Amino acid sequence: MELYYYTLFWISIMGLCMGSFFNVVILRSLANESIVFPPSKCPNCQNRLYWWHNIPVLSYLLLGGKCYFCKKKISIQYPTIEILTMIAYAATFIKFGFDIKTLFVLAWVSGFIIMTVTDLKEKLVDCNIAIFIAILGLFYNFITLGTYGLLSSFGGLILGALVLEIIARSGYLVAKTRAMGEADTYVAGALGAIVGVKYILPVLLYALIASMIFIVPMFLYNQLKLNNKKVCILSILFILSALIFKTLVQNYWSLAFLFITGLLLAFSILKSIRQEQNRNYLPYVPALVVGALYFIFFSINF
Ligand SMILES: [Zn+2]
Repeated sequence: MELYYYTLFWISIMGLCMGSFFNVVILRSLANESIVFPPSKCPNCQNRLYWWHNIPVLSYLLLGGKCYFCKKKISIQYPTIEILTMIAYAATFIKFGFDIKTLFVLAWVSGFIIMTVTDLKEKLVDCNIAIFIAILGLFYNFITLGTYGLLSSFGGLILGALVLEIIARSGYLVAKTRAMGEADTYVAGALGAIVGVKYILPVLLYALIASMIFIVPMFLYNQLKLNNKKVCILSILFILSALIFKTLVQNYWSLAFLFITGLLLAFSILKSIRQEQNRNYLPYVPALVVGALYFIFFSINF
């Protein structure tokens, strides 16, 4: 028991340090710099940091969230990622304990964190990370910890990538461009390699549900900013009719109302996507990651 808490403590500390390292990876991969060589410096004044400026979370608090030299505010992103990584690492150990599985999940979660942040921040995802996750997934299933086997892992990889690629290319039908980035295909393939051919579709479904929660409000916000009143009003009507159908009146009339507002909304969204200026990139990797995390941590099949 004591060993358990001792390990949990050190894995949490390791999470903090890895989070700090991920910040560097994220910053430098977005700036196309070497990850290992240059010593840390302030992105604003270029002064080299002292060792005590690099302690996860603690340095941020000690420095009051400002650069020691130029007093420019340090982004809240740094301590946030450090704490998130710590929580993710601790949760992984709590869930899987002293098991080789824990090591694999730690590696996957690390890749997920980096890809999510770069996708949200700069709409850029390093496909090499997805490839790394996929190789680990294949290896994991090869040593049959996953009990799915190598064949299922390969099948999952192909099916995951295929589904996302088809969705991405369906964009050509409406807008003469890919509906999603190439990274999404890589990430879906990587998730397939982890969960196998049998469970990749449920994971993609979880991702779709997660994306509804993230992406729909973002899409509506963008429409509002572009002053696209029609989509906004129709969305409100659609949500209202869904609520009415779900809680108050359940008959053919309310169902018809729901159906019609849904149809009109879908049409007006398609129409606005056709117009160039309304086409804004929506990050999908975070949704895929949420779907995968949900499966890894809450499904009895993992
Ligand atoms: Zn500075």
